Amino acid sequence: GPPLHVTARIAPLSSRLVLALVEDRTHERRVEAIRRDFVANVSHELKTPVGALNLLAEAVQDAAEDPEAVLRFAGRMQTESARLTRLVQQIIELSRLQGDDALGTPETFDVDQVVARAIDQSSIDAQAKQIEVVHNGERGLKLLGNPDEVALALGNLVSNAVAYSNDKSRVVVGAKSVEDRVELSVTDQGIGIPPTEIDRIFERFYRVDPARHRSTGGTGLGLSIVKHVAASHGGEVGVWSVEGQGSTFTLSLPQGTTSTSGSAPPATAG
Ligand code: ADP
Repeated sequence: GPPLHVTARIAPLSSRLVLALVEDRTHERRVEAIRRDFVANVSHELKTPVGALNLLAEAVQDAAEDPEAVLRFAGRMQTESARLTRLVQQIIELSRLQGDDALGTPETFDVDQVVARAIDQSSIDAQAKQIEVVHNGERGLKLLGNPDEVALALGNLVSNAVAYSNDKSRVVVGAKSVEDRVELSVTDQGIGIPPTEIDRIFERFYRVDPARHRSTGGTGLGLSIVKHVAASHGGEVGVWSVEGQGSTFTLSLPQGTTSTSGSAPPATAG
């Protein structure tokens, strides 16, 4: 049949070609394995809130005579469904970022606006814990890339900083230009990360202490998203942390072209 025919024709070409084909399939298999892994993890993670919602629905039925209990269970159903919504949103976001054309066409955009958006996303949570989130860095910087993605990534870092900090503490979002990059940073005075865990926190679904962090409603996907955004921009993520004292996450991304007023772009000959 045809497959044999193809094999017979490939063999005499060169040993290099055969090697290239083998490598290509190894890569394909690895990608496939990662995908299978992801699907298995996703199914597992979805089962938790769905299971909780089922149990709570049963509990509501059983408690029909007790209005206070019904309200309490309804509140918990709301928490679980919010968690489920967040999980689904982040899974969709992550799989989109893993696609080939995740970045789109890079554009130059204002860092200040993106910082403001990122801070805004967590304002309700920050207010609830009386945490002050301040923008304290160089102003007027430009970045090159996708502003929505950078806002999302920085927003995840701010949201973590708020989630893993005690009430009445402070979170500082900074920006500075370092050579051809802009380094964004988020510093908190929170619980910190144990040195043994710091390599793993960027893995999908990884949480340092899932039981203790249940109340934060974390999904373990926030930092994976940050990592993917950095990678698609040719940037880097860094983390420094001292347990019990706080953490600093940095996101270093390519700087955009600052077109100052008066200097027109060079004319291009048609
Ligand atoms: P999650 O949704 O659980 O926050 P992430 O991927 O954003 O997931 O973070 C992974 C884990 O890293 C968190 O569960 C938490 O244990 C730890 N972590 C992330 N940011 C911080 C921080 N600012 N301070 C302390 N721990 C953090």
